[in-house]
Amino acid sequence: MPRTCTTCPKTLGLKNKSGFCQSCNGRRTALMLHADPVMRERRREGVSRHFAVPGNGMRRTEQLRARIATMPQEEREARAAWGRKLQRDVLSRPDVIAKRNAPASRAKAAEKRVDRALAWCPPRLRGQYRDLIYRKHFSATEARAALEPEIPGTAAHTARVIANFTDVQRLRAEREQTQKEQAY
Ligand SMILES: [Zn+2]
Repeated sequence: MPRTCTTCPKTLGLKNKSGFCQSCNGRRTALMLHADPVMRERRREGVSRHFAVPGNGMRRTEQLRARIATMPQEEREARAAWGRKLQRDVLSRPDVIAKRNAPASRAKAAEKRVDRALAWCPPRLRGQYRDLIYRKHFSATEARAALEPEIPGTAAHTARVIANFTDVQRLRAEREQTQKEQAY
């Protein structure tokens, strides 16, 4: 008599050792990894490292957009149902709502929003940015344009480096000219 999966009616192959079918075993492994704080932290770090590489976030967004555009109706509905279940069973729970509205959580969320909005601005320039906005009444665009020459990797910074280099060359040429004139 063929053995079946421990958690679903699927028949198992003769060489199966785990006692679970492939999809149940995958789910079980994922849950085990999720329950392990060390593994969770390692994964979190891996994800952060991946998205810290410029371009990776953009690429992921495009992949997801393409995937959603071609998603079978069945999966679309399954995902929507899962979302409704999550809302009903977890997100609407009083303790979850209380935790979400706690001052510490809100402050952390606000900080995250600022971090995301000002991702282009290195932390060392954030004070200057705030100063331009709140004291000098620059618009966000103007403030960014004013600070970008300070940020390596931007076109404005490159332009400034080139301008400085040209200045240095000009000054050197002028000095040499003066020295030549003084030599006569
Ligand atoms: Zn199974």
